[in-house]
Amino acid sequence: MNDVLLPRTLSEALELKARHPEAVPIAGGTDLMVDLNFDRRRPEHLMDLSRLGELKVWRLEDGGLFLGAGLTYTGIMRELAAQRPLVEASRAVGSPQIRNRGTVGGNLGTASPAGDALPVLAAYDAEVVLASARGTRALPWAQFLVGPKRTALAPDELILGARWRPVRGTGSFSKVGPRNAMVIAVASLCLVLDEDRREVRVALGSVGPTVLRAPEAESQVARALAASGVWDDPAAPPSADAVDRFGEAVAAAARPIDDVRGTAAYRRRACAVLARRALSWALADRRPGAGAAAAP
Ligand SMILES: Cc1cc2nc3c(=O)[nH]c(=O)nc-3n(C[C@H](O)[C@H](O)[C@H](O)COP(=O)(O)OP(=O)(O)OC[C@H]3O[C@@H](n4cnc5c(N)ncnc54)[C@H](O)[C@@H]3O)c2cc1C
Repeated sequence: MNDVLLPRTLSEALELKARHPEAVPIAGGTDLMVDLNFDRRRPEHLMDLSRLGELKVWRLEDGGLFLGAGLTYTGIMRELAAQRPLVEASRAVGSPQIRNRGTVGGNLGTASPAGDALPVLAAYDAEVVLASARGTRALPWAQFLVGPKRTALAPDELILGARWRPVRGTGSFSKVGPRNAMVIAVASLCLVLDEDRREVRVALGSVGPTVLRAPEAESQVARALAASGVWDDPAAPPSADAVDRFGEAVAAAARPIDDVRGTAAYRRRACAVLARRALSWALADRRPGAGAAAAP
């Protein structure tokens, strides 16, 4: 490695990236430094993004929520408490030290199917906002995450952040691994209820080449919830059978493989369990007196 580029502003960073498209951005370094330490990558230039205040912000804009790429998980837990699935995913990342350094931009940049922030962005139908000296563009998450550890980021671009329309309704993020902390997910799931559209959104991590949505399970459960009357009467219980069928439909959407962390069969089973639990939690949150989480 020859140089570390040290831009102080976003426009300086974009100019440098235009001149050195091969420069590898480093935010928290919690993924990149592992690769450098193991000699998996040997970039000519690194570009340190840690001074760019423009990336460390969140804001409400045009009715949407913008989450800067440079926000750390600790920052999200502190500042965005009302975004419950995102906070739960942030809390599930690594250890306090990793959460103090690691960023959502880095999770997107690495594009691991196991990235904990990614199912949340998928469940929110987030767009990923990218910038270069040529201008800014936004890509739906599914067009940005194109494969395992592959993105649609152009060589001269940086990730500015992600944005989505806040959803009125409760939700959760949960993951399965060999223990509770410092664990790469064997399977993860984000479920969000959209009270206004009467929809249930489900995204899965670690059970496919990238994050996956489960569209058939989503429509099936929306129909079952409508039939039970639960959208209008939160006390009305959907049948246990409907919750079970939802679990099976979510498991059917997974495209897992066998690897060192778990077999495909175990991962599918984990998806069914996570889905049933997440739906039950969401419905419990809506019952009178439970106090469902709201968007900011
Ligand atoms: C011990 C340990 C435990 C971990 N546990 C978890 C876990 O439980 N869950 C989980 O999801 N992850 C985990 N990780 C992985 C890592 O912490 C996360 O993926 C984190 O979000 C990476 O963010 P970062 O800012 O450190 O990224 P960096 O390492 O700085 O960068 C990662 C990649 O993204 C690119 N990049 C970063 N920011 C930008 C940007 N703005 N524009 C363009 N490209 C960019 C970099 O070039 C690099 O390719 C763990 C890592 C370690 C070392």
